Amino acid sequence: KHAGGNSLRFFDQVDRSGQAEDRLVVEAELRHALRGDELTVYYQPKVNCETSEVVGAEALVRWNHPERGLLAPGAFIDVAEETGLITRLGDRVLKLACAQGRSWLDQNRIIPLSVNVSVRQLQNPQFAADVLKTLHETGFPPHLLELEVTETVAMADPDIVYRITGPLRDAGIRFALDDFGTGYSSLAHLRQLPFDTFKIDQSFIQELGKSEGSRSIVQTILAMAQTMEYDVVAEGVETREQQAILQSIGCGTAQGYLFGVPMDADIFSAWMENCPS
Ligand code: C2E
Ligand code: CA
Ligand code: CA
Ligand code: CA
Repeated sequence: KHAGGNSLRFFDQVDRSGQAEDRLVVEAELRHALRGDELTVYYQPKVNCETSEVVGAEALVRWNHPERGLLAPGAFIDVAEETGLITRLGDRVLKLACAQGRSWLDQNRIIPLSVNVSVRQLQNPQFAADVLKTLHETGFPPHLLELEVTETVAMADPDIVYRITGPLRDAGIRFALDDFGTGYSSLAHLRQLPFDTFKIDQSFIQELGKSEGSRSIVQTILAMAQTMEYDVVAEGVETREQQAILQSIGCGTAQGYLFGVPMDADIFSAWMENCPS
């Protein structure tokens, strides 16, 4: 703490090279994980804001690391993106989610599933064909699948978005604009995007109840979505107060720890048995 500038810089360098090493380790281990079955999918419920009834679930990748335990995407998704492994990871998640969705259907549980898609996956010319193939192979109906693309990605390359959404929307797959509000999209651009749902970023939801401004922002997004005939999902709802505000301004769907955390498929199934529907 009391060391001079030079030593601070020294520690900084050690720290950085340590991180670089970590990345290489994560990459190698991730390659290994992709060959085996360490990657798994958790499901977080999306609920009707008013009734709390489950209307679907978001598939979120988890890594059952042999030494480090269960890892959330924050620990490895950047490395996956940088190394291109995200393509295989995303493909794995989609297959696992669709197979699980099919298995729930076989138990008379109709659970629409949302799956996150990265920019690298969209850039793959085979992407649309691969998705349709997975649906076909798993027997999960296209109209129960929604693909989530972040606003930043969608705005960075609208042409790719058009190319991908065309055939997939024709097949009945829905598209959601993820982390909405963080990408500074203009209304004119938004209007052109062939999406079905806005997911309002959790940063706005977590401000609800704390500042009057946040309420107006969410209200404005809702009004805009309504004119454009988009569905809206509020992400990261943690408190009853946030839920009450969302309900009062007419938000249809919500997701967050208040209703349910991401759960593995078995726990999600058990949780469904005890929830209002
Ligand atoms: P996201 O798509 O915005 O997903 C929502 C994240 O918010 C999840 O974090 C979820 O666990 C967390 N969350 C849900 N409710 C609450 C809440 O009430 N409060 C708070 N503070 N957080 C909440 P998670 O699972 O750690 O995933 C982080 C991000 O990693 C995701 O953000 C998504 O961008 C990415 N990701 C996850 N799975 C995949 C995947 O299969 N493919 C790709 N490409 N990205 C993924
Ligand atoms: Ca998402
Ligand atoms: Ca999000
Ligand atoms: Ca996010």
